[in-house]
Amino acid sequence: MVLAVMTALSPAMAQDGVPAKQLFGKITLPSKQRTAPIGFYAKGCLAGGVAIPVDGPAWQVIHLSRNRRWGTPQMIALLERLGREAKAEDGWNGLMVGDISQPRGGPMLSGHASHQIGLDADIWLTPMPAHQMSYEEREVVPEASVLRGDMVHVDNRKWTKSHERLIVRAASYPQVERVFVHPGIKKKLCETLKGPDRTVLNKIRPIWGHHYHFHIRMKCPPGSSGCDDQVDPPADSGCGKQLADWLNLVKPRPPVKPNKNAKVVVPKQLTLSSLPNACAIVLKAPSVTDMMTAEYHNGMQSADSQVAVTAYAEEQPASSLVAASDDYSLFVPDLRSVPEPAVRPSVQ
Ligand SMILES: [Zn+2]
Repeated sequence: MVLAVMTALSPAMAQDGVPAKQLFGKITLPSKQRTAPIGFYAKGCLAGGVAIPVDGPAWQVIHLSRNRRWGTPQMIALLERLGREAKAEDGWNGLMVGDISQPRGGPMLSGHASHQIGLDADIWLTPMPAHQMSYEEREVVPEASVLRGDMVHVDNRKWTKSHERLIVRAASYPQVERVFVHPGIKKKLCETLKGPDRTVLNKIRPIWGHHYHFHIRMKCPPGSSGCDDQVDPPADSGCGKQLADWLNLVKPRPPVKPNKNAKVVVPKQLTLSSLPNACAIVLKAPSVTDMMTAEYHNGMQSADSQVAVTAYAEEQPASSLVAASDDYSLFVPDLRSVPEPAVRPSVQ
């Protein structure tokens, strides 16, 4: 498959107009490059991705068929640490790790507007089971919501102190930029967090969905010059008007009769030329030999992936693949929130 994609890349310009998700969504292995998150969370790609091992002492990865367990070493190390610490201190048996990024990041064929640069990860709001899950079991993990039937408020029979501790712990790491949760969960945390724990409330942002999983977004790691940080969240707790607006947005409404005359808005698809130019190089770079080669183990990254991103630049003049400037405004919805689809597809 990789070969087919590589062939299709030539001539490169022929890909203009092809949705980038079709190019990145088909590649099964990361590029043999030094790790670099490139671009923005919702408009970028990942060079030299590393995979979180499927099983660890305090995590199990689910939905293996999606092949989205790829990130930067910093992202993988953070998840492993969160799992270990939550297990040791928060009464959380270990993480069920959902989607991180595709092997070379980039837009996906299903779900997620973000998760493109190896610095976003979805963690289930259900601890991993005591047994090692089978491949099939991981594919069909229930999306167990912590909300009541109204889908607005947290159900106190499902919500535990361990949920609270896990989310606060994730948000407390300085390298974490934001944590996204459903507005109902944010409300619960606004009501229950006390003392120093409240200082992380500004990082815990409300967003659609995210009531059976939550989302961790890391800052660009130091030295990753091609990575575009999101502006810092506002310093205030976000427990006031912003949360009220969100709760209003997610409250149940009477069904709307379909309007035949309503304009159907087709979301704009990202093409390769709308991504940073280095993404064309990432797409074209050789693969590592196999998945095991690129698994992250105890902070060691395989020597196979230690090639600089620019090493392949000469093969394909990047300038020929780049259109105008990167316009992130497309991805900044109201309420200064994270760009993700309004309707939660089951794959989220
Ligand atoms: Zn997510």
